[in-house]
Amino acid sequence: MNLLILPGDGIGPEIMAATLTVLRCASDVFQLGLSFQTQDIGLATLKTQGTTLPPAVIEAVEQADGVILGPVSHLDYPPASEGGVNPSGILRTRFDLYANIRPARSREGMTILRHPMDLVIVRENTEGFYADRNMHEGIGEFMPTPDMAMAVRKVTAQACRRIARTAFDLARTRRKKVTAVHKQNVLRISDALFLREVRAVAAEYPDVELDDVLVDAATALLVRTPQRFDVMVATNMFGDILSDEASELAGSLGLGASLNAGDRRAVAQAQHGSAPDIAGQNRANPTALILSAAMLLRWQGGRTGAAPLQAAADAVEAAVEAALATPGDRTADLGGPLGTRAFADAVAGRLR
Ligand code: ATP
Repeated sequence: MNLLILPGDGIGPEIMAATLTVLRCASDVFQLGLSFQTQDIGLATLKTQGTTLPPAVIEAVEQADGVILGPVSHLDYPPASEGGVNPSGILRTRFDLYANIRPARSREGMTILRHPMDLVIVRENTEGFYADRNMHEGIGEFMPTPDMAMAVRKVTAQACRRIARTAFDLARTRRKKVTAVHKQNVLRISDALFLREVRAVAAEYPDVELDDVLVDAATALLVRTPQRFDVMVATNMFGDILSDEASELAGSLGLGASLNAGDRRAVAQAQHGSAPDIAGQNRANPTALILSAAMLLRWQGGRTGAAPLQAAADAVEAAVEAALATPGDRTADLGGPLGTRAFADAVAGRLR
């Protein structure tokens, strides 16, 4: 399996190096034959090539069997006309990575929750309120006058149907429940369309229960009764906000893994951002990116029928869990003593 490695900005290079330590070890132990090609993106290539996403990277994504994308500081980028494009958004739309799969699970001693949480947020990735991906030409935010700003939200039946199918397929492998998150009491047309399509897909899955909650209620229910959720399906922005909440409830933003998946390609990417406040200090928790990489191995194993990839994904997850369960093997965000590199060694050591 040829993996394209895009370290990104901020803590990206550090958590990517940690992830590669674990993947190299998994490749040896499970004889996966993983190969890695690294390419710079973000602020590094803005300086050297005048763009945060060089065309050669897009070509490399086309050639690769999978991509591991580090966090990017796109808020610090200049406008697109000066080379500052958001690599994450472009890869999602260009390669139609429509499903952003974001698991969140509480662990003993690491969460403020009273009840256990074990859920997956399935977030639509290609439209919604995201101004950079909801128009054919131009962007979905504009200012008719200097004192008035407007934003367009795009919701299509096709995108709702396919994200709903991803959610129901996933629920079948879990506790067989899907919760659709929406704000239909306010967004009466666009979220009615979303719900209509989710309900139509639900009819194809009579073995999976469907309910729905308003997004504001969902934020409270995540804290009060997280155990009521199995798979949550949501449009782009609601899914993004809820998954940060779920990660932090699990113990740290540094724990939230995710996979951006389409029908033919997938990109592993931590849920969190580039955390420039702790960049270069060997303090970042690489768990989210390591677990995202494990999701990528499992996804590829599922597509190709390669059992060793799936076994390696299981083993990486088990090794991370074992390290996290040991207070002396945790990183600073979880109150532990280890740095980024030492945590990676602690995980890799459990794979051998
Ligand atoms: P960006 O602008 O790229 O979104 P940000 O710092 O605004 O970056 P996040 O990176 O998502 O947003 O993180 C918010 C805070 O959470 C960070 O300031 C950092 O202290 C903490 N954090 C995020 N990721 C990690 C991590 N992997 N390990 C430890 N702490 C983290």
